[in-house]
Amino acid sequence: MAETNNIFTRLSWFRQERVAAAHVMVVGCGALGNEVLKNLALFGVGHIVIVDFDYVEPSNLSRSVLFTREDAAEGRQKAAVAAERIRQMNPDIDVKSIYGDIAYDVGLGLIRQMDVIIGCVDNRWARYCINRLAMRAGKPWVDGGIDRLEGTARVFMPGENCYACNLGPEGLKEMKRRFSCANIIRRDEAAERVPTTPVIASVIGAVEAQEAMKLIHRAEMEEGELTSLCGRMFCYEGQHLTTRIVSFKAYDDDCPLHEQWTPVETAELTVQHSVGETLCLLAEMLHTNEVSFSLTTDCFVDWIVRRDNDQRFNVMQPGRQVARQYESLPTVGFYQHEYREIDKNFPYQELTLAQLGIPDEEVLWVHTGKADRYVQLKIGS
Ligand SMILES: [Zn+2]
Repeated sequence: MAETNNIFTRLSWFRQERVAAAHVMVVGCGALGNEVLKNLALFGVGHIVIVDFDYVEPSNLSRSVLFTREDAAEGRQKAAVAAERIRQMNPDIDVKSIYGDIAYDVGLGLIRQMDVIIGCVDNRWARYCINRLAMRAGKPWVDGGIDRLEGTARVFMPGENCYACNLGPEGLKEMKRRFSCANIIRRDEAAERVPTTPVIASVIGAVEAQEAMKLIHRAEMEEGELTSLCGRMFCYEGQHLTTRIVSFKAYDDDCPLHEQWTPVETAELTVQHSVGETLCLLAEMLHTNEVSFSLTTDCFVDWIVRRDNDQRFNVMQPGRQVARQYESLPTVGFYQHEYREIDKNFPYQELTLAQLGIPDEEVLWVHTGKADRYVQLKIGS
């Protein structure tokens, strides 16, 4: 590996020590994610976190360089397999895999440790979620999308441009509907499957990895040695071989979705603490009796009622789990009783934060009588 890296050091802008120290998160382990991870491993990016909620299937094998037939036969988790393979490619890398959904299962504290986040997802909802986390943490992110022989890559940087601002009013309305938690049963709609080829994944995955490398070399970008795709979109069309770069820089000052959460304080709390303990410790820490926090990624549902026959189910789960558990029922519609604000009147004070669906290292959005505070949890398990 050392020899390979010596070749890169002949690039005027390449800083080996910076790349080895870099933290990069890759969200999505499909065709694009495979390509991006392969490239990051070859470059020698030192710390990689892989997030994916899917399993390897035979249909993935035609465009996923990191997966084998055995992985598909065993139905292994994509994130874990990818982590194992890039560790084999480059044993110097520290790789962590998270089997989970970026929308709910990744704490903002982990995002805050990243230098860059790379989105390799296939739907707008996931992009919206990555954008929200990246903007809250003040981190740049790279987006890639592929469809048949076409693909695009974009870079979003806090203070410069924002995915949500670029969605337009209709797109945002759709996202807010999904995010409202009011339609749990329909919320986990599967992304539309689009036919792709390994070639388009290679092209766009390569551009994404390249842009991530530039973001790791911020100083060199400022000196003009490197030019970022930030504020622009790279479009590649393979059928007739055209490439374009178009402007893509909407940034609305009033957009609540690209607000950075700062400053962040750290508490001696983990997701294993109960709601009661958490409120108590926060009150003490913030010197107030009036303290509450918001569930920002998901609601907590205590019961649901079928609309057609009033049958009641006590579920006591985060909304996403309810959605999964009841997805097989006919779409009769449910009324759900949910909580988003947690304070001393929340009736289940003995539940742990993990039971409310809060991920490890999450940053809690805390409200006191006076101001909002951001409080980061420690690793709990
Ligand atoms: Zn925005």
